[in-house]
Amino acid sequence: MRVLIGGGSGFVGRELTRLLKNKGHEVTVISRQPGPGKITWGELESHGLPPCEGAVNLAGENLMNPLRWWNESYKKDLFSSRIDTTKSLAQAIAASPNPPHSWVVVSGVACYKPSLTAEYTEESEWTPFDILSKLLKEWEASALLPENVTNTTKQVVIRSGAVLGRDGGAMKQMLLPFWLGLGGTLGSGRQPFPWIHVSDLAGLIAHALEPPADTPSPSQQVFNGVAPALNTNLEFTKELGRVLRRPTIFPVPAFVMNTLMGSERAVVLMEGQKVIPKRTQEAGFQYKYPDLTSALKEIVES
Ligand code: NDP
Repeated sequence: MRVLIGGGSGFVGRELTRLLKNKGHEVTVISRQPGPGKITWGELESHGLPPCEGAVNLAGENLMNPLRWWNESYKKDLFSSRIDTTKSLAQAIAASPNPPHSWVVVSGVACYKPSLTAEYTEESEWTPFDILSKLLKEWEASALLPENVTNTTKQVVIRSGAVLGRDGGAMKQMLLPFWLGLGGTLGSGRQPFPWIHVSDLAGLIAHALEPPADTPSPSQQVFNGVAPALNTNLEFTKELGRVLRRPTIFPVPAFVMNTLMGSERAVVLMEGQKVIPKRTQEAGFQYKYPDLTSALKEIVES
């Protein structure tokens, strides 16, 4: 299968590319920069969709970029880097004489309202309640294909939790302070922490890219991209400290995170949702790292 991956040069994209190539598939990345094995977003717009059986979008300005202040220009980039790229790919698919059989977008779990008690599956109804959930609404809507291709192309949205892996995402920023024994819970630590190992997210995307058995449904299929283990921030912190054999005695108060990151962004870490991967498991997806211990051991020992 030939797979086109928007933002495939990033943390998740590199893992997905490795996995697909190991399975014998061909990968072309769409990037802002030209290079071997890549096309640019400009080339996609001017030349149309290259021949492919699967398309994925993983492009997006990093929400946790420590070098960017939470201001209007950053928020604009968070929206446009996801929505414009997703729209470009959806439009190219719709205009293609040979559209791919699968179109997969990875979004996030910030659509579900943070709560210590509510449990969310893919079927849970939600309406936007803050800036990140508004982003999610627009982002997922921008992936929708027009009717002329919905009977040939399966549309999948994977709502990912925090992606854990050594080479990117939250762990890249956390490992050093935890190694130094400076790690600690965020706020009360009671907030849920939905997560997935990067290898499982890549596996889930590859699963979603498989050709549909029947005529695809005209609507998007949603899968929660989270591990089945439901953990809190406290459990995550303690387990990471245990695996690293380091103390985790320095809690980070909410006001510090809000000041450093901006409260609208810090919400991702200071609050959380209990997200259940109901449909993901019903679809028969097998996790390599279903629990924190196995996921963190792999990351720390790799
Ligand atoms: P990365 O931060 O690694 O970024 C992926 C790619 O996006 C980059 O390699 C870059 O490609 C492209 N990109 C970055 N900034 C911009 C921009 N301003 N405009 C256009 N393209 C840009 O992302 P991840 O691999 O960590 O995540 C993949 C997707 O999954 C993202 O959309 C993210 O929002 C989502 N997600 C990730 C989570 C995580 O914990 N990592 C959690 C939940 C969702 P290039 O430089 O080649 O153009």
